[in-house]
Amino acid sequence: MNFLEMVFPNKCLLCGKNIKITELLCQSCLSELFRGPVPLREKNEFFDVYFYGRYESMLKKLILVYKNGHHWRLYKLISQLLLKTITRYQHDADFVTWVPSSFSSLESRGFDTMGLIAKSIGKSLNIKVVKILDSYAKSTKKGMSVSERLALAKESFTYIRKMYGRFILIDDVYTTGSTVKECVNLLRKSGVQKVYVYCVARA
Ligand SMILES: [Zn+2]
Repeated sequence: MNFLEMVFPNKCLLCGKNIKITELLCQSCLSELFRGPVPLREKNEFFDVYFYGRYESMLKKLILVYKNGHHWRLYKLISQLLLKTITRYQHDADFVTWVPSSFSSLESRGFDTMGLIAKSIGKSLNIKVVKILDSYAKSTKKGMSVSERLALAKESFTYIRKMYGRFILIDDVYTTGSTVKECVNLLRKSGVQKVYVYCVARA
């Protein structure tokens, strides 16, 4: 340990162990995280979804610390995990795009979590990153019930440009798949021919 590390101890963001000042995670957390990808794949009518791992233990912690802990620098590490999944399976995508953060989480986090990762992945694969989807908050109307308001408060997506080609779509956590399905439908409406979906974790 050098002098700086004694005065300003730097701790692993996931387990709290002391680490070098230039690091974000300790070696044991890193080696556990890099064990993937799991052989997990879900077939849908218009697209297949590939996952890096299950939404549990270290991977879950990593995603939560990245999204809710304001640790945006973790985007590089999460990109590397997703790249391991993307390069394992054959694809002929020309572009990368992502499921955008909702307006309210953009406000509270200050960054588009999957947008940062998409840019890093595009750079590594040397393919173009294009923002096609945007999220918007539907406005509530007078006289609506609480449940109607809650249904509207759920994020909704729209496409902001017409695109032609084959796309990689990335997202963080896949639970029911409804968000990804909505996004794939919008991409198809915008003109996209083929979509390959890669998610960091399967809940
Ligand atoms: Zn650790």
